[in-house]
Amino acid sequence: MDVFFYIIIFIIGTLFGSFCTLAVYRIPKKIDIVYTHSFCPNCGHKLGFFELIPVLSYIFLGGKCKKCKQKIRPRYLILEISFGLAFLLIALCLKLSIYTLTLKNIIRFAFIALYLVAIFLIAGIDKEERRIEKSVLYYSFAVSCAYIIYLCIMGQTSIYRYVMYLVTLIILLIIDCEKQIKYAKESYLFQILMLLIVMLINTGEIVTISTILITFIAIGLVKCIHYLSNALNKSKKEHKNMLEIYKFGYLFGIANIMSFIGYLYFINH
Ligand SMILES: [Zn+2]
Repeated sequence: MDVFFYIIIFIIGTLFGSFCTLAVYRIPKKIDIVYTHSFCPNCGHKLGFFELIPVLSYIFLGGKCKKCKQKIRPRYLILEISFGLAFLLIALCLKLSIYTLTLKNIIRFAFIALYLVAIFLIAGIDKEERRIEKSVLYYSFAVSCAYIIYLCIMGQTSIYRYVMYLVTLIILLIIDCEKQIKYAKESYLFQILMLLIVMLINTGEIVTISTILITFIAIGLVKCIHYLSNALNKSKKEHKNMLEIYKFGYLFGIANIMSFIGYLYFINH
């Protein structure tokens, strides 16, 4: 029975993954994500029902468009499967099963799913364009607010710290909007700060701190390897400012999802 339950969770995860890969492609191009029918970016062929099924459609079509036979990037498949796996892992970490399916657990899971969507979109768009998409930040802001209201209703004791984060987030948003009006320029650093506050609200202090640590340790390791290989090849490359090259939305996003899943496992086992 439980196996069946986990298969359903996995399938729901792949559906979310499918939607998110579509959104990462469309949001920067300003294409509507709800009403515009899914299409092949090469020939414009509108996808039929069976071509929309995550994972399976990719396998049955052999990774090609049905009409123009253009290859579909395997990252769609990889991302759909990883989303399914992330959902599965979270359900396992929360010890969710057909017998523990209470309303409280479902709401908790739903909030995590909505949060994952936000982090995935922010990370995905940042990886492609190196910027934090404002509309996704607003979405994650709305999810955070709903989460805080839910905690209030449930009588969570430490509600003040959430309110404090929310106020900081609003202040950052206002300053960022002001800056944009004044200098017609978005500040990457500000957006990263807002992202970190969204992480603080949704995943807590421990996870956010470990997110930052993991990211900087990973960057440090990569830098060391680069430095060593440069020293060995005796090539000299100019050092760039860290803030100008790294995609922090993308790096923090991956580190955050990993630490969050680890944290959920740790507190529930
Ligand atoms: Zn096509």
